[in-house]
Amino acid sequence: MEEKNCIFCQIVNKEVASKIIYENEYNIAFLDIFPIGEGHTIVIPKKHYNNIEVIPEKDLIEIIKTIKYLSKLLHDKLNFDGYNILQNNFKAAGQVVQHFHFHIIPRNFNDSRFRLAIPREKASDNDLNQIMKKIKA
Ligand SMILES: [Zn+2]
Repeated sequence: MEEKNCIFCQIVNKEVASKIIYENEYNIAFLDIFPIGEGHTIVIPKKHYNNIEVIPEKDLIEIIKTIKYLSKLLHDKLNFDGYNILQNNFKAAGQVVQHFHFHIIPRNFNDSRFRLAIPREKASDNDLNQIMKKIKA
C-alpha cells in the first residue's frame, strides 16, 4: 500500500534521499530535515496509512516497539535532557504529511524552540459532563 505523491512513501522506496537512522521489516526512521532539536526523528510505518484511525493494531504495535527502541538509543547517544513523542492527526492538529508518523523530539532544559506550556483554564463540572454525554451516547 503506497501513495504516488507521498513524500514518506518515496523515502520508504528510497526514491527520495533521507538520513535513515533505523529500518526494520515494518518501519523506517529518519532525521527530520526541519529539526526542532538535534536528533529530531520521524518514525513511519513502511505501509501508507493516513492516520491513527486506519492503521491496523498490529502495525501500531510494531511502530510503538520501534519508538521505544529508538527513544533509548537516541537518548543514550545524544545525551539530551528529555524528549517528546508527538503524533498529529488531520491538518487541524498540524499533520502536514498525510502518512501516519511519530516525531521523537529531543528536549533540553535550556531549549526555547518548542514549548508545551499552553495557557489552560479549568473546565466546569457541567462542561465535562456535557462532553461525557456526547462521547458515551
Ligand atoms: Zn505514504
